[in-house]
Amino acid sequence: MRVIFIGPPGAGKGTQAEKMVAKYKLAHLSTGDMLRAARDAKTEIGVEAEKYMSSGQLVPDDVIIGVISERLKQPDCAAGCLLDGFPRTTAQAEALDKMLAENASKLDVVLELRVPDEELYKRLSGRGRADDKPEVIKERLVAYNNQTSPLLDYYGKKGLLKTVDGLGTVDDIFIRIEKILDEYAV
Ligand code: AMP
Repeated sequence: MRVIFIGPPGAGKGTQAEKMVAKYKLAHLSTGDMLRAARDAKTEIGVEAEKYMSSGQLVPDDVIIGVISERLKQPDCAAGCLLDGFPRTTAQAEALDKMLAENASKLDVVLELRVPDEELYKRLSGRGRADDKPEVIKERLVAYNNQTSPLLDYYGKKGLLKTVDGLGTVDDIFIRIEKILDEYAV
């Protein structure tokens, strides 16, 4: 199964993604993790990406599309994958549609983890990552609301979107996710 996981920074996506890939045996494609690894390894892409990441902005579409298209070709993606943090713009979603069509594969479901903005601010202020400074958090939420949230409509129109309430305990939220994904699991 192929799943896209969408949610604002601080929604608890990382924790739920770990549980999903373990239960459903999916390759975990987190573009944030890929970019942080590239940054730490000081590759050309990593150095370029850091300029945007450190201020809470999205890295340019062509950079991230290049990274993900290489990753999708890896054999572990064939059995199923969780796209976590990609796509984040309409241009990225269109590029993904093209990549999947070229492989004669398709998405099963797009999960949105929904958490109100006030709750996100509260949670993010307690995290301590370098891009979790208040002004960077604000920028990341602005990027989500302006650039990523249009994808909800994009996938809603395709009939692929399922929204999960992101308030509650980790286990409560995972039960909600399982109710949706069990339907697509083979
Ligand atoms: P994340 O861990 O998913 O919140 O990603 C951390 C940072 O990496 C984001 O704030 C962006 O700067 C960058 N990033 C991750 N995924 C993408 C993407 N699909 N498009 C653009 N930038 C991204």
